[in-house]
Amino acid sequence: MAGCYLNTGAKKDCTGCGACKAICPKNAITMVSDEEGYKYPHIDTKKCINCGLCRRICPVTNEIPDIYPKAYTYVTNDEANLFEATSGGAFGDIVNAVFEEGKTYVYGCTFDENHKAVHAGVNSKEKISQFKRSKYVQSDLKETFKEVRDLLAAGYKVIFSGTPCQIAGLKSFLKGDHDNLLCIDIICHGVPSQKLLDYYIDIEEKKNNSKLSEIAFREKNKEKDGSYSLTNIKLAFSNGKKIIKKASKSSYMAGFSGRLFYRPSCYNCKFASKNRLSDITICDIWGLKNLDKEIYGKGISGIIINSAKGEEVLNKLNGIIKDIPSEHVIKTNECYTRPSYYNKNRNKFFNGLSESNFEKKAFKYAKKPLINRIILFPRKVLGYIKRFILKYIK
Ligand SMILES: Cc1cc2nc3c(=O)[nH]c(=O)nc-3n(C[C@H](O)[C@H](O)[C@H](O)COP(=O)(O)OP(=O)(O)OC[C@H]3O[C@@H](n4cnc5c(N)ncnc54)[C@H](O)[C@@H]3O)c2cc1C
Repeated sequence: MAGCYLNTGAKKDCTGCGACKAICPKNAITMVSDEEGYKYPHIDTKKCINCGLCRRICPVTNEIPDIYPKAYTYVTNDEANLFEATSGGAFGDIVNAVFEEGKTYVYGCTFDENHKAVHAGVNSKEKISQFKRSKYVQSDLKETFKEVRDLLAAGYKVIFSGTPCQIAGLKSFLKGDHDNLLCIDIICHGVPSQKLLDYYIDIEEKKNNSKLSEIAFREKNKEKDGSYSLTNIKLAFSNGKKIIKKASKSSYMAGFSGRLFYRPSCYNCKFASKNRLSDITICDIWGLKNLDKEIYGKGISGIIINSAKGEEVLNKLNGIIKDIPSEHVIKTNECYTRPSYYNKNRNKFFNGLSESNFEKKAFKYAKKPLINRIILFPRKVLGYIKRFILKYIK
């Protein structure tokens, strides 16, 4: 049974959602970063009146009800949205389908001017582009829970998107659901801390002798053969230089994909379950065979409907929708139903970590153990041969 960090002090449970901070009537709680850069609640005992609200609101101690989700693949018809989006543009189309001018606020994760991931709210459709594209780092929720509470009370419709634990925190803070609230979560394998991303940005700025102007973790760029690669990282600098590299060649992405440096609670996440607290879950869909490349080659979203409210939205979407067995989502997205595997090198990575050894440690410890690499090698070679033959048959 998971416990509230304020009771147990166990970092493995605390997602850092900040519901405890938001609910405190005396503003006695601040979120304080530890040496890895992950934030945990800290109580100022001089201000605390021992009302116990913070401990009772903690979403990790709540039961999650059983639900019966339905899964679909989704690709938007809106080319501009497709290229702004991480996968098939599900998020942008969901917002468009629900948004009513003057009556709706949309909350999501954006980068501020210093490349810090933060949650923010906007009340214009034109401003939602900033939320598109996955930012592979834990976002700071700031005061958004309180803002959402006040907007709902004032009769506004609110669309809130975030990680499953952020949705759990919000719902717990709001003490349940609201008719005018639509929650969208992502399938999430885990979040690195902002401190780690800051190290990486600093390293790249020094290497390229210029300030970073943009970072995109999932750049869609056209390859020589006309197909799109969907998993490259893009770095743009103020001196005009632009770098697009394979995720495996970026120390940050290698560590992220290697599950090396997620928040401790991510490896123990109770919200990585088919029983979601959101109305709609969005994700990437990989591995579907024999699809028309023209339609499906620029990314495919998965849409999982978790509630009647979510079902209503699905009926309003005008992209290309196909229902797929939810087993397919499970097969290609391990974190739909369970947390990420723990990387046994995590402690070695954080031990003595500094900006100067970040790259070396990330590449070294993100690698799969030798035994796994030996087992996977024949499969990799067969894949290369297959792709080579297919290229020349065409
Ligand atoms: C940390 C992280 C881990 C992920 N892990 C997986 C995974 O294991 N499997 C999988 O299928 N998909 C994963 N995704 C989701 C995936 O990358 C796409 O976001 C998803 O396919 C939606 O694509 P889209 O084209 O509909 O969304 P887009 O139009 O690209 O919109 C992105 C959405 O994600 C939200 N978002 C972006 N960054 C963050 C963040 N840091 N914290 C909270 N919300 C954020 C935005 O608010 C927006 O709603 C992950 C995303 C993140 C941020």
